[in-house]
Amino acid sequence: MSHPIADLLAEKSFLVADGAMGTNLFAQGLMSGDSPEFWNVEFPERIRKVHQDFVDAGSDLILTNSFGGNRHRLKLHEVQGRVGELNRAAARVAREVADGASRKVLVCGSIGPTGEIFQPVGALSHEEGVEAFAEQAIALAEGGADVLWIETISAQEEMAAAVEGAARAGLPIVTTMSFDTNGRTMMGLTPEAALGAAHVLPVRPIGFGANCGIGPAQLLHSILSFRKSRDANDIIVAKGNCGVPEYVDGAIKYSGSPEVMANYARLARDAGAQIIGGCCGTSAVHVRAMREALDSHVPAHVPSISEIEALLGPVAFSGLAPTHGGGGEEPSRRRNRRRD
Ligand SMILES: [Zn+2]
Repeated sequence: MSHPIADLLAEKSFLVADGAMGTNLFAQGLMSGDSPEFWNVEFPERIRKVHQDFVDAGSDLILTNSFGGNRHRLKLHEVQGRVGELNRAAARVAREVADGASRKVLVCGSIGPTGEIFQPVGALSHEEGVEAFAEQAIALAEGGADVLWIETISAQEEMAAAVEGAARAGLPIVTTMSFDTNGRTMMGLTPEAALGAAHVLPVRPIGFGANCGIGPAQLLHSILSFRKSRDANDIIVAKGNCGVPEYVDGAIKYSGSPEVMANYARLARDAGAQIIGGCCGTSAVHVRAMREALDSHVPAHVPSISEIEALLGPVAFSGLAPTHGGGGEEPSRRRNRRRD
């Protein structure tokens, strides 16, 4: 099937994604509790700078500033009626940066979770979820997105609604889930089961992977786990945090250095990922280190867990919960979680 990611992967054997949007907006003054999506219309030059820095550092694709841009998340800020405007603006600013680049750069419309719990456990119906995701996806497509990029999902029901809704915009879809609880999503899905569930959706995502979670070592455990259920059509995505989150002086800091992220990128490639980027805490400096590491990397054997741990530290399944797309609110400490 022809789509922009496959076309680019036909030229290059792997793609470098970008890093964190939230972390880099907080560095520019976004306050905890604010909706980052407002900045698409209030301070588009700040969003443009984050995108431009990633493109200059070597990103082949950039994710729009629209992670919390669905009606359920925007309702918390009483602007659920501005889904179209804020998502079109998010896609437009990324489109401008991509079109100004000297090489092909893809615009991926970021779609995060609703924050609601789906039926049967929670109250949100499948159809309500589909409607919300479709509304956001169509606006991102209108603003110029090449691909829709569903991320940080933890429930299988929400993945199904998000993919079905996004499909109404008619663009290819990538889905990544966050495996942050004993190597599973918060709702209990293992990486191999999550990928298996994606395979049987009525519209199959063209790419699937893991983002966020705990730290880069734990994320690579998820990438290795995908090997149990992946098939030749899967494009595997790795978007790990920049080290592990630590609570320092009232704010979340990430422990990762450019060297850590370079090692993570090489290991992700050898583990089978074809699209490799960073999640929370990842700045353009880290993306540049990943780009350089991958460009000079000679593919090696699939790494073992002990080889990953030797370079990146323990595959920790406990620690602070990253607040993806969020700010410096005091994180909850995870309880005594162990590897299984
Ligand atoms: Zn994250």
